[in-house]
Amino acid sequence: MRTSDTGAGSLARTDPEIAGLIEAEERRERDKVRLIPSENYVSRSVLEATGSVLTNKYSEGYPGRRYYEGQQFVDQVETIAVERAKALFGAEHANVQPYSGSPCNLAVYLAFLKPGDTFMSMELAHGGHLSHGSPVSITGRYFRPVHYGVRRDTGRLDYDQARDIAKRERPKLIWAGGTAIPRTIDFEAFSEIAREAGAVFAADVAHIAGLIAGGAHPSPVGLADVVTTTTHKTLRGPRGAMFLSKAEHAKELDRSVFPGLQGGPHNHTTAAIAVALKEAAGPDFPPYARRIVENAKALAAALLERGFDLVSGGTDNHLILVDLTAKGVSGKVAAKALDRAGIELNFNTVPFDPRKPFDPSGIRLGTPAVSSRGMGAGEMRRIAGWIDDVVSAPGDEDLGARTAADVAEMCRAFPAPGILVNDEP
Ligand SMILES: *Cc1c(COP(=O)(O)O)cnc(C)c1O
Repeated sequence: MRTSDTGAGSLARTDPEIAGLIEAEERRERDKVRLIPSENYVSRSVLEATGSVLTNKYSEGYPGRRYYEGQQFVDQVETIAVERAKALFGAEHANVQPYSGSPCNLAVYLAFLKPGDTFMSMELAHGGHLSHGSPVSITGRYFRPVHYGVRRDTGRLDYDQARDIAKRERPKLIWAGGTAIPRTIDFEAFSEIAREAGAVFAADVAHIAGLIAGGAHPSPVGLADVVTTTTHKTLRGPRGAMFLSKAEHAKELDRSVFPGLQGGPHNHTTAAIAVALKEAAGPDFPPYARRIVENAKALAAALLERGFDLVSGGTDNHLILVDLTAKGVSGKVAAKALDRAGIELNFNTVPFDPRKPFDPSGIRLGTPAVSSRGMGAGEMRRIAGWIDDVVSAPGDEDLGARTAADVAEMCRAFPAPGILVNDEP
C-alpha cells in the first residue's frame, strides 16, 4: 500500500491554495498576449520532466564522477543532455548544471578573472544584463567593468567604441550579448576585438539561443571561448542554463560551476533541458525560429506605421524596443495599462534614457511566446493596433476591459503549448 498521497489531483486536495493559484496562472497565460521577450511556453513534455521524481536525487559531481550513490539513471540523463547540447550547437564541450543564467555567468568570471580584474560588456542601460557588471551585481562589485554601448544616431551597437575601449583598458574578458538588443550581434567583430586585446571572449546568448539553434541568428560557437545561455527563453526549455565552450576551457569552467559555485545539480531541470534540446533539434524548430523573427518584423512594421519610435528603427530578431517619449507616456504607465488590457510586456530603459530605470521611457516586447502559439502576421497587426489604442488612452478603463476581452477571444484560436486548463464558456 502506498503511504504517500500520489496520483492526479493530489495537489488540489493537499494544498488547494497553491493549486488554485497555479490554475489561475494557467488561465492568465492562456488568455493573454504574452510579449515579454524573455518568456515562452514550454511543451507538456518539458513540464512533465520538470515535475518528475528526479527532483528527489542528489548528484554532486559530473556523470561517472559523483559523490553520492544511486546515479544509474541520473548519469544517463545528464550525459544525454550534454550530448544533445553539443550536437545542436556544434560545441566541443557543454555543461547543463548552472542553476540559471546569472550563476552560469558567474562561473565564467570565476574561471577567468581574479577579484578586481577588468572586463568589458554592454552598458546595462543600452541593453546589457545585470550580471555583466552592474554596480548592484556581485559582478560589478568584485570585478572592474568597463562598458560599450550603442551609437546615439543609429541605436546600433558601437563596435568602434568597443574596440577603442578594449585597446585602452585591456580587459581580461569581453562579453557580447544582452537583454534588449533588437539587432543581429556581430560575433566575428567581437572575436576580433577580443583577439586584439588578448581577452577571453564570452558570448551570452540567453535571449537568442533558440534563434541560433533554429538557424535564425548567426552562432558564436567556434568564435567565442565560452557561450552562456539560459534554457527558458527562445530555446523553450525549463528555467535553467548551460554553457558551451572550447575543449581547452572545459575543466576550468566545469570546476567553477561545481564545486566553485554550486552543490547538487537540479536533475529534474537537466532532464527537461534534454527534452527541450531534442525538440530544438527537430524539424519543427527552424520554422519556429523563422516565425519568431518574421512576427517581430511584422509587429515592428505595424508599430512604425502607427508612429511608434523603435530603437534602431526596427528589429532583426525576436525583440522590439520602443521609445515612448514622443507618445507622451512613460514606459511604466504604458506597460501597466497594457497589462490590464491583456497585453503583457515590460517597461524598459532606452539608450540615453533621461528617465529613471524604475519609470523609464520605453517598453520592450517580443514574439517568442506568441509564435509558440502559432500566431502570425495578421495577429501581429491586430496586436499593434491594440497597443496603439491603449497607449493613446492609458487611463481609459473601459477600453482596457474591452481590449482584454478581444485579446482573450483571439487567443482562443491559438492554444498555448503545455496548458491543459479548459473551462471555455
Ligand atoms: C536572462 C538573461 C540572463 C540571466 O538569466 P537568469 O536565469 O534570469 O539569471 C543573463 N544574461 C542575459 C543576456 C539574459 O538575457
